[in-house]
Amino acid sequence: MKTNRLAGHTLPNEGRISRDGYPVCCGPAVCSCGARSEGLHGANARKRWHRQHKDNIRAAQNETRP
Ligand SMILES: [Zn+2]
Repeated sequence: MKTNRLAGHTLPNEGRISRDGYPVCCGPAVCSCGARSEGLHGANARKRWHRQHKDNIRAAQNETRP
């Protein structure tokens, strides 16, 4: 699968967490699967983290595939 999308792993609101109902610009990225990054600063850092996160998931899936 060449697509960069991964089922069950999306980045809602570009990964921004909400505080008091408002998305914050600086903070950890949170994947829809519940994974959470270290504190990040900016959308690009969150996207980079999410790409790496999905790569890790794929690598784990490939290892367990017969
Ligand atoms: Zn995820």
